[in-house]
Amino acid sequence: MTLLLSGATDLDGRRVDVRVDGARVAAVAPSLAAEPGEEVLDLTGHWLLPAPAEPHAHLDKALTSHRVPNRTGDLAGAIEAIRAIAADFTHEDLVERATRAVGEYLANGTTAIRTHADVGVHAGTRHLRALIQVRDALAGLVRIQVVALISAPFSAAEAEAAPRLLAEAIRLGTDVVGGAPHLWADRDAGQTLSFDAAVRAGLPLDLHTDETLDPTAQGLLDLARRVTSTGFDRGVTAGHCVSLGVHPLEVARSTAREVARAGIGVVALPQTNLFLQGRDAGVAPPRGLTAVRALLDAGATVGGGGDNLRDPFNPMGRADACEAASLLVTAGHLSTREAWLAVSAGARRCMGLPVPAVTEGAAAEFVAIAAESLDAAVAGAGTARVVLSGERVLATSAVQRSVTPIAPAAAVSRS
Ligand SMILES: [Zn+2]
Repeated sequence: MTLLLSGATDLDGRRVDVRVDGARVAAVAPSLAAEPGEEVLDLTGHWLLPAPAEPHAHLDKALTSHRVPNRTGDLAGAIEAIRAIAADFTHEDLVERATRAVGEYLANGTTAIRTHADVGVHAGTRHLRALIQVRDALAGLVRIQVVALISAPFSAAEAEAAPRLLAEAIRLGTDVVGGAPHLWADRDAGQTLSFDAAVRAGLPLDLHTDETLDPTAQGLLDLARRVTSTGFDRGVTAGHCVSLGVHPLEVARSTAREVARAGIGVVALPQTNLFLQGRDAGVAPPRGLTAVRALLDAGATVGGGGDNLRDPFNPMGRADACEAASLLVTAGHLSTREAWLAVSAGARRCMGLPVPAVTEGAAAEFVAIAAESLDAAVAGAGTARVVLSGERVLATSAVQRSVTPIAPAAAVSRS
């Protein structure tokens, strides 16, 4: 049995009928006749968009902003806050919050999520084990990848424990090796620990990179050179890369070319970095955003994501790729189409996943949003939508509003 999606508008504004067979798009045409017994979903008035993926979440921290304040509002304050309450994160609490957050993402159209899990002396591997349980429990519904985010050490004892904890995370079944080398006193040691662990385990690498407005930070360039010189080919993703956005343009462009050559995917996370960075500037604060245009011009893979979800790193967020895309338009100056490709195709490339498209043979993962234009679909955010994975409808949303009727304005006569 196949599914016929009829009357939709695709990302390029074409009116299309789409036949889905299993997990794939079987046919695309301006008009397709329903086959006998075929299920038909009328998507007239909907934009049929490649389903977004969240390439950089922290499900272990999600939905905790009300439990602890971020006293300084910046990255250091967020890390201090999360360490203060991590002891209260029981396995059940971690599983419950992560599952609830995944439900929010899925309702909005996100069918794949890469989540980091804190691994360190403050958390052991407790967060990772909980997120692996959520990953396995929801397999078949949402594709979840867990990244072992080995924490930057705050002491010599923590630094000594880091290799053992990361090795334990790999034994437990993490999908990806992570880290945050820019937060280490010895950045090279932090990058070497994660990189070498990924090489030994044969796993992809996803590093928090240069999450700072320090214009001298060059962790992304170091990473690109390490990937190129070693030929590491398991997939490398760099999240944040904020400093690239404040480098001189020629420096940023040169780094972007090396990043593209190394095949590194860069994930821009506008909401969290607009919140955390630039707080020490009294006026005209710089935007906490990587150099998305330089990266795209260089041919690098650029993904867009939401990062933290209502926790001390970002008290806002609605688990909605429309929000990340909207910020990439407003703060990153991408077109709406470029922004949607960043949160869908780009995000999935950063995760090593197939890219859905309204193209015969492509993966059939879509979100259909009722709207008059692509701008309205992305900006509207609260409008009706249908989430599709293959032939399955995974979620539907409807909006019911009651507003006093407003007639078109008529000219008011003045005398
Ligand atoms: Zn992060």
